[in-house]
Amino acid sequence: ASRFEGVPMAPPDPILGVSEAFKADTSDLKLNLGVGAYRTEELQPAVLNVVKKAEKLMLEKGENKEYLPIEGFAAFNKATADLLLGADNPVIKQGRVATLQSLSGTGSLRLAAAFIQRYFPDAKVLISSPTWGNHKNIFNDARVPWSEYRYYDPRTVGLDFEGMIADIQAAPEGSFVLLHGCAHNPTGIDPTPEQWEKLADVIEEKKHMPFFDVAYQGFASGSLDEDASSVRLFVKRGLEVFVAQSYSKNLGLYAERIGAINVICSAPEVADRVKSQLKRLARPMYSNPPIHGAKIVANVVGDPTMFGEWKEEMEQMAGRIKNVRQKLYDSLTAKDQSGKDWSFILSQIGMFSFTGLNRPQSDNMTDKWHIYMTKDGRISLAGLNLAKCEYLADAIIDSFH
Ligand code: PMP
Repeated sequence: ASRFEGVPMAPPDPILGVSEAFKADTSDLKLNLGVGAYRTEELQPAVLNVVKKAEKLMLEKGENKEYLPIEGFAAFNKATADLLLGADNPVIKQGRVATLQSLSGTGSLRLAAAFIQRYFPDAKVLISSPTWGNHKNIFNDARVPWSEYRYYDPRTVGLDFEGMIADIQAAPEGSFVLLHGCAHNPTGIDPTPEQWEKLADVIEEKKHMPFFDVAYQGFASGSLDEDASSVRLFVKRGLEVFVAQSYSKNLGLYAERIGAINVICSAPEVADRVKSQLKRLARPMYSNPPIHGAKIVANVVGDPTMFGEWKEEMEQMAGRIKNVRQKLYDSLTAKDQSGKDWSFILSQIGMFSFTGLNRPQSDNMTDKWHIYMTKDGRISLAGLNLAKCEYLADAIIDSFH
């Protein structure tokens, strides 16, 4: 008899489980549009040239593998806050930013969730409906209560801005409002600059805490600064803000688990206290973060030539996704006889497209067409190439009708 009789089988992860099912499929037609990971036009994963260059330099220097401090690699922490806020942002000069290197976006969100649970036990987190599937897991496991605000409007396949504002306004004062800094996952729909201002008004008025998840900086528009403008707008108002960052997508460092949690505070002395408590939370969870990805980021950002090369490669990745987006739209419009308006595909930004396919329709995509995607109707355009756009368009049209 096993002591584990009471341990049931866990369900497969809704996103990572898709990759497992894809691997098991033997059809030549198969296409993995589930996980948001960049692929080349040949549908192969690739390491950025600038990353290879940075790694080569690191190897030549023969650096050791001593433990990092709990808060991570100092040069990385400086680089990451500079990238997020702009190096000349007064909050940086004033020492008002608490930054901890953490285990990529997920680990940074999880650390922030633990902090909320400990110091704001009565607060709840407001998350968009829909959102990245793992957000709910993160807050559930940290025992932080959450509720949803309206975000996606299926009628317009756009933003339900009125609903979003109303729900944020109606939430108890002092709630944490989780916002996607850019390239909202899964919908690909972001507020306009005017809408961000209005959101900041309401959040300020209700004394809510803005909590940004920035997983795609540079990947939405191709510009690091433009993609951070939402966060900077809140910071400029003098608000205290949480920001989780990830380098999985924009530097292609998925498995290095490199990211950070930043808390912009009202005074340097507050930032010191917040940082000390974040370190105290990290220590019993994982002691200190891994060094390799931190050094890559610090070296790339710290060297003007490599920094320029990174920006070019990021623009290329963003550009390739825009090309397949256009081709998919063209294919759908050319093939579909129903008169459906497909323009939402072009107005969405980032890695994903939210197709509007419901669960049985998404099942049809997989069962009949060997196209793997999450069951919420999201497809990752980063896993698509020009050659497969027509096939995908056929599958989408067939699944809708
Ligand atoms: N937030 C969002 C919205 C994401 O899409 C992702 C990546 N899928 C993450 C956070 C975190 O990813 P990682 O832990 O790999 O940095």
